[in-house]
Amino acid sequence: MSAVTSTTQSITLTIDDKAISCRSGETILQVARENNIDIPTLCYLEGLTVWGGCRLCMVEIAASPKLHAACATECTEGMTVRTTSPRLKQYRKMIVEMLFAERNHVCSVCVSNGHCELQNMATKLEIDHVRFPYRFPHLAVDNSHDYMRLDHNRCILCLRCVRVCGEIEGAHTKDVKGRGVLSAIIHDLDEPWGDSQTCTGCGKCVNVCPTGALTHRGTAVGEMTKKTEFLPYLTLMREVKL
Ligand code: SF4
Ligand code: SF4
Repeated sequence: MSAVTSTTQSITLTIDDKAISCRSGETILQVARENNIDIPTLCYLEGLTVWGGCRLCMVEIAASPKLHAACATECTEGMTVRTTSPRLKQYRKMIVEMLFAERNHVCSVCVSNGHCELQNMATKLEIDHVRFPYRFPHLAVDNSHDYMRLDHNRCILCLRCVRVCGEIEGAHTKDVKGRGVLSAIIHDLDEPWGDSQTCTGCGKCVNVCPTGALTHRGTAVGEMTKKTEFLPYLTLMREVKL
């Protein structure tokens, strides 16, 4: 009988002048959250794979001239991390302003008004205006599904919906087409959502969407709320116990 050995090591690092111990393999974001240190995120969601796309969780690491995505950077022994600084705040504000400028986020008439992670992030970062010219693209609303709706105008391309559909529901209905600002969420081979042969109608994508891009049909302004608590639970239940 072979003994089960653990390769997990204890690591000590400093985050915002606070000495912290963690396990090897943990990311800066995980450790920060375990220690009640807030690092803003939009694409990250506990229970989904890390994508590192929104770049809001960028942090400074001592002796490194570049910024690092906290969600995708593992802690190392002796690391010194700073999660807030004037430079980081400026970058984070710029990212959120660009998201607002890229599509048509008209919060006052959005079904997610008051329950939107993008709107909350703008408030948190004290954004009271957008410094970039709005693109005002002409984007469609996919209303073809019986009880769910995709409004491309509100999409920030966080890909939470793509990941939950593939990784948790296993349907792989959602994906992305195009590049850069022309990227868009699609269903199957770019068909109307209502015609999808693979969508199970589980609604998981709607619940993980941080904005008013994925919503339930029939909701009026400010009525759409999301529930994400199911994700860490489902992930935990699926873990292989050795
Ligand atoms: S409802 Fe479920 S199966 Fe359909 S696109 Fe959303 S997550 Fe995928
Ligand atoms: S539809 Fe929602 S969850 Fe999907 S990429 Fe757009 S903002 Fe993210």
